[in-house]
Amino acid sequence: MSENNKPPIAILGAGLTGMSAAHHLGADGEQYTVYEKLPHVGGHAITLEERGYRFDRTGHLLHLRDPDIKAWMARLFAPGHLRTITRRSMVFSHGRYTRYPYQANTFGLPAQVAFECLKGYLDAKSRVWERAPENFEEFCLQHFGEGFSKHFMIPYNARLWGVHPREITAEWCSRFVPMPKLDDVLAGAVGLNDRELGYNANFLYPPTGIQELPDAMAKEIRGIQLDRAPSKIDWKNKKLLFADGTEHAYGALITTAPLKALIDQLVDAPESVRDAAAKLRCNRLWYLDVATHKPVQKDLHWAYVPEEKYPFYRIGCYSNFSERLAPEGGACFYVELADRSEPDMSELGPRVAKDMVEMGLIASVDDVAFMSPRKIEYAYVVFDHQYFAALEVIKPFLKDNHIVSHGRYGAWNYSSMEDALIYGREAAASAREMLR
Ligand SMILES: Cc1cc2nc3c(=O)[nH]c(=O)nc-3n(C[C@H](O)[C@H](O)[C@H](O)COP(=O)(O)OP(=O)(O)OC[C@H]3O[C@@H](n4cnc5c(N)ncnc54)[C@H](O)[C@@H]3O)c2cc1C
Repeated sequence: MSENNKPPIAILGAGLTGMSAAHHLGADGEQYTVYEKLPHVGGHAITLEERGYRFDRTGHLLHLRDPDIKAWMARLFAPGHLRTITRRSMVFSHGRYTRYPYQANTFGLPAQVAFECLKGYLDAKSRVWERAPENFEEFCLQHFGEGFSKHFMIPYNARLWGVHPREITAEWCSRFVPMPKLDDVLAGAVGLNDRELGYNANFLYPPTGIQELPDAMAKEIRGIQLDRAPSKIDWKNKKLLFADGTEHAYGALITTAPLKALIDQLVDAPESVRDAAAKLRCNRLWYLDVATHKPVQKDLHWAYVPEEKYPFYRIGCYSNFSERLAPEGGACFYVELADRSEPDMSELGPRVAKDMVEMGLIASVDDVAFMSPRKIEYAYVVFDHQYFAALEVIKPFLKDNHIVSHGRYGAWNYSSMEDALIYGREAAASAREMLR
């Protein structure tokens, strides 16, 4: 029991959502305890150091739009510490770079490819579609037309999501897929576009990597227990059960653990809930952190790579976000792999180095100092056709039992770091409500 005799709130996870929940509860004088299963805070938003190079878990760029979150960040960091950077992202296809987003920048593509894209776009726009798109492939065909779909939208998204866009519902994409207007498409076809489109045209970034964000948040939060996670959750009696035999009673539980894993942890979860959880899908991601002892040859932040002949779908240059991420004279990159199985580095390493030379990112394969394969077990939730029905079973059950499952993997969605900070605020409010 807490000092005021209210059962305390327990938080699982000291990623951005869990720590934001703790921050917002603390601001209201609520009692809480945070359990984090790893020995460090930050979840996916961390920076790994290897031989003097610093690598985030692939690109982690901060976009802020919520006034309260902006004000909080302004309190956490000295003015100007988070630098505002204008995105320099490109698409690499047909052996050349064009601007992102592809659908508004056909200028510079081979004439036949640009023609197919523009013709398909105009055909799609002038056609009367009998019904709304039912999957992401249909969404692409209806909104962008056959050419853009064939040359970028379908292959790129299949490689990013790890499943064919036909398997993905159309609902998820409105926020994240830039939807250029006809004028943008036409201007971009003749090289007239002078502005970056899409939700992420500018981003904020700390000098030594994204880890600075969770580190700054953790300083204001008391009572984070690292390396400690319950082995089971007795939801009927509202208790966390630990492997060492100890228990923690809670009034409300905020969890940011992956939803599927959470349901597995519940003692005797109803069969309907377990069946629904079994339908949730999420893809892992393998990527390579690449260090070079020569500077990067291109002034870009990242490049999208739709063509299947390359083993990766995106390459970014961390040291172009901040030069402090690589030792002087060196550079560091992330290479996000299309294949979800463990890479065989003896075959893949030389191939990636050669492709990076072909893309003009490095001058020679000999510039590579080392490559480290890394895995993100939960990376991309698959918004397939079972997604919404499954969540409709799980969410009310959790709510009825005073469990708030939030965050990118707790809510089982596709969302950003700022969303995580907002989700933490929402989770704190829901948990407080449950205790009333
Ligand atoms: C490849 C990739 C690139 C991304 N790029 C960007 C980007 O550029 N910009 C952006 O804004 N966002 C980006 N994101 C999204 C961003 O990483 C997430 O939105 C955010 O970090 C999610 O925070 P979270 O706290 O919800 O989840 P997590 O970061 O997953 O944190 C959950 C925490 O809970 C802990 N945990 C799990 N189970 C338990 C348990 N049972 N008990 C206790 N602790 C537990 C975990 O160890 C972890 O620390 C990217 C994500 C990925 C995967």
